[in-house]
Amino acid sequence: MSKPETTDLLIVGAGPTGLAAAFYAGMRGLSVRLVDPLEEAGGQLVALYPEKFIYDVVGFPKIKAAELAARLVAQLAPFHPCYALGERAERLLPVDGGFKLATEKDRVYHGRAVIIASGLGIFEPRRVGAEGELEFEGKGLEYALRDPKAVEGKRVLIVGGGDSALDWALTLKQTARVTLIHRRNSFRAHERSVEELKAAAEADELEVLTPYVLKAVRGGERVEAVEIENLQDKHRRTLAADVVLILAGFLTKPGPIRDWGLAMDKGKIVVDTRMETNIPGVFAAGDTVTYPGKLKLLQVNFGEAATAANYAASYITGEKAFPGHSSDRPLTPS
Ligand SMILES: Cc1cc2nc3c(=O)[nH]c(=O)nc-3n(C[C@H](O)[C@H](O)[C@H](O)COP(=O)(O)OP(=O)(O)OC[C@H]3O[C@@H](n4cnc5c(N)ncnc54)[C@H](O)[C@@H]3O)c2cc1C
Repeated sequence: MSKPETTDLLIVGAGPTGLAAAFYAGMRGLSVRLVDPLEEAGGQLVALYPEKFIYDVVGFPKIKAAELAARLVAQLAPFHPCYALGERAERLLPVDGGFKLATEKDRVYHGRAVIIASGLGIFEPRRVGAEGELEFEGKGLEYALRDPKAVEGKRVLIVGGGDSALDWALTLKQTARVTLIHRRNSFRAHERSVEELKAAAEADELEVLTPYVLKAVRGGERVEAVEIENLQDKHRRTLAADVVLILAGFLTKPGPIRDWGLAMDKGKIVVDTRMETNIPGVFAAGDTVTYPGKLKLLQVNFGEAATAANYAASYITGEKAFPGHSSDRPLTPS
């Protein structure tokens, strides 16, 4: 299916709130485009705590964050949403009949209404401040890995002690020569992964060095070696490496939405009871909004997403906001 540059609704942010809003908009027969700088939909669920269990989403006694994100994506899939992933929304301009949304990749998307679900803001990988870190970014030094095949047979240094560092170390040890360094002697990861890591190190399937930090990345065109330092005795070592994978978590920053002319309070977007902002046709929901009594909880955000999507549909079509219950009119999305 070709992806039109124009959709009824534009959603800024493909976190849980944006996905839930897109689903509801699909139920209302609207075409939707979700724009997000992350390469994967799910927002905080996938970027910050994919392996953690969540216990307070109704209907799920417990569910892993990554699985909740996958289910939100699956629930929405029948409506064929357009995803513009890996793109940050930069500017929002009102135009005749709707809005233009420009991304930092110079793409422009049109929509008749907008829902902003930008949550905590832009996620950026946490850099570790090693010499040569910026210089070798994209030249063997990465903050995320999509495809394990890309590092097959290579010497990979993984920096980090959380779930994603351990998961990648355990995955890559099958096909690459892995060394994992972490600044502490203990790990902030699932007990089972920590046990597996220790067992793999004992079996010489990979190397684990603690408490070590990355001090420098060296090479020519690409990474060739790293210098690491033992935090206890300050001893430095040089290791040969083809790939450095830094998995030290994310930082968030507000991003360009602050400059869109929206009424804000303490950095959050002010909305009314229909989740509409001060700009008619621009709605907002989730962690990015504020109103008296706002709670930053998934459950609350999902409710806001439904409200925003239904009022956005009403704004676009002129029909009433409450469409009736889904159980009364089973949907057959095209
Ligand atoms: C460790 C942790 C544990 C948690 N546990 C729970 C729990 O047990 N129960 C619970 O209810 N809640 C929990 N939360 C909170 C919950 O995850 C958040 O309330 C929820 O993720 C907010 O969803 P959101 O979609 O509004 O924002 P986010 O998840 O922050 O997603 C926002 C998305 O917008 C994107 N974005 C930002 N700026 C732009 C831009 N300019 N252009 C395009 N896209 C943009 C971001 O990349 C991101 O993908 C937890 C949070 C954390 C950090």
